[in-house]
Amino acid sequence: MAIAESASGGTPESDVTASLLHRDCPKCGTDNADAPALEYSWEHWVLRGCGRCDFVYLENPPDYADFAVAFAWERNHGDRSKRMKAEYPVSHAVSKSWRKFYRAAVKKPDKLANRINKWVPPGVVIDVGCGNADRLLVLPDHYETCGIEISEGLASEARELLAARNGSIINAPAVEGLASFPSGKATGVLMRSFLEHEHKPIELLTQAERVLQPGGIAIIKVPNFASINRRVMGSRWCGFRFPGHVNHFTPASLRAMVADAGFTIASFNALDRFFLSDNMWMVARKD
Ligand SMILES: [Zn+2]
Repeated sequence: MAIAESASGGTPESDVTASLLHRDCPKCGTDNADAPALEYSWEHWVLRGCGRCDFVYLENPPDYADFAVAFAWERNHGDRSKRMKAEYPVSHAVSKSWRKFYRAAVKKPDKLANRINKWVPPGVVIDVGCGNADRLLVLPDHYETCGIEISEGLASEARELLAARNGSIINAPAVEGLASFPSGKATGVLMRSFLEHEHKPIELLTQAERVLQPGGIAIIKVPNFASINRRVMGSRWCGFRFPGHVNHFTPASLRAMVADAGFTIASFNALDRFFLSDNMWMVARKD
């Protein structure tokens, strides 16, 4: 709670930053503390490009082991919309109007549901960072639904909503939550808009591979740091969220990390990582 108060109460910067973690490169383990920060860094949030493997990551996130602390950070600093409005008022207004129009005019396909139906065999599906279980609730009946959620409030909402279909929720950080499942338990693990938040992405992918049975599928969606939009928008790119987004994947780094965790890449074609899109989708299989 001390951090929540200091974050909103104007305590000197040094007190606030003293409570942050230090991360080595989450992909190869190199300590890049002596390298210059990337130009995309913002306020006291330090983005590094790894000198050894090029991976881009937030070096000093708040400690998510203490969710109350992390939530306070998100609440006070994580609102990208507020930042854009303050720093780029005109382009923020144009972009907001465009998105509103686009959403009203275009009915987008449900990319997650489509991939689940196409790839995931009937059985247990675990949604990592399930929120209030909105994604699990709409799955067909031949899936048994499990969710992992770090927020106590969302976890209890999810538990209530999933009770009707006998779904279960684990209120824990993602790696710990997955570690509590026996090996080979699941046919599907969903990581939609999650891996970019995870301090330990290799551990998470390794656990995901372990809990899947042979033939089981992991579905991953993350922002694409190599997207054209990131190059055009620079610091305004929607993938930069401080301090929430701690890993910035390119198609190459995502592919390498997922393969290192033991998966075979089942689908990651040009449309899955479309160069005009801010995001990319991957389907990975445990053989
Ligand atoms: Zn590295």
